[in-house]
Amino acid sequence: MKIPELLAPAGNFSKMKTAFHFGADAVYLGLKHFSLRNFAGNFSLEELEEAIRFAHNLDKKVYITLNMIPLSSDIKELSSILPAISKMEPDGVIVADPGVIALLRREAPNLKLHLSTQANTLNSESVSFWGDAGVKRIVLARELSVDQISDLVSKSKIELEVFIHGALCISYSGRCFLSLYMSGRDANRGECSQSCRWQYRVLEEAERKGEYFPIEEDDNGSYIFNSKDLCALPLLPELVSSGVHSLKIEGRMKSLHYVGITTDVYRRGLDILLNEGKAAFRMAVPQLIRELSRVSNRGFTTNFLKGKPQVDSYNFDECAVSNPYAFLGEIVEKNNGHILLHLKNTLRPGETIELCDRGFLREEVRVVSVMDTDENTLDFGRSGTIVRLNGNFQAGIGGLARK
Ligand code: SF4
Repeated sequence: MKIPELLAPAGNFSKMKTAFHFGADAVYLGLKHFSLRNFAGNFSLEELEEAIRFAHNLDKKVYITLNMIPLSSDIKELSSILPAISKMEPDGVIVADPGVIALLRREAPNLKLHLSTQANTLNSESVSFWGDAGVKRIVLARELSVDQISDLVSKSKIELEVFIHGALCISYSGRCFLSLYMSGRDANRGECSQSCRWQYRVLEEAERKGEYFPIEEDDNGSYIFNSKDLCALPLLPELVSSGVHSLKIEGRMKSLHYVGITTDVYRRGLDILLNEGKAAFRMAVPQLIRELSRVSNRGFTTNFLKGKPQVDSYNFDECAVSNPYAFLGEIVEKNNGHILLHLKNTLRPGETIELCDRGFLREEVRVVSVMDTDENTLDFGRSGTIVRLNGNFQAGIGGLARK
């Protein structure tokens, strides 16, 4: 059985380190100004160089997202940074625009082109068209079933990648003007305000002016466009058998906790499949899904992977994101008898917390006392500070804490 690459989002440097720590084979990340997640943090050119060096030292891969739909002025700016990017030798660049593809082929021919899901590739003719155009990998549109994906893989001469987890659009793989129309923020330039998740109350048919069809379902109104999140975990065996090259987790704007735990769960699922087989994997699915629901989510759907999404793929009642655990911080040092925790939240003595580390390690800990790094006892640990917890913990550096 050939296990596909596990590809995780890296909104910034520390999320990249966490993704690799928890088992990602590769990350995708954005350059400031040029990716479709303009609010994700993203990397400067200097940070990008460091990130690629860091990843390659671990024998991991970095793909750069250059998938905005650019104006002529953007093309000029992009052209000016291409020599620098080219020299860094990233493992791929994710593009969506034919002009950018032409530019990169001309000015940076050593860069391996990955076609973004924004190109909506759904059929083998498109796959071979883009292959002939110099594209080495296609991130398939999300509107495909596992059978259709298998069929495309069997006919494709280039690598194919599929999304397995994360937020979904109600538009065709992100091609949407709802956000631009409602809030002036252009989803095609990385600024989506998620207007599809807002509350909509009435529907008017064009020919029946002033005649409103109520679509309200209860006092909360109705969220007619509000898709649940993609979760392909139960379909991992079928996706692995399809021969697809890469499995992608969405979420460059999501937290360190999301990146670490989601990567850990899918790595665990793939390891079970490889080492223990499908029956053991099926047994593990409920536990793995439980763990996925401990990080921010809107409920789960397999979307198009099992055919046309059914009515239960949407959350019509509310757009609330479930986030049952508060992220506490990251373990930055471990010694005999203590760990240092970089806090992202308040920590008080007496609280029960959970330490999470790669390999699906979960460790419940009752905090007896919180100390600063000079071992002075604190009333509580403040977000942003580094605190010491005494004890012999299994989790190590790079592990995460939550409560
Ligand atoms: S508004 Fe919704 S459908 Fe449109 S791009 Fe944003 S998330 Fe996707």
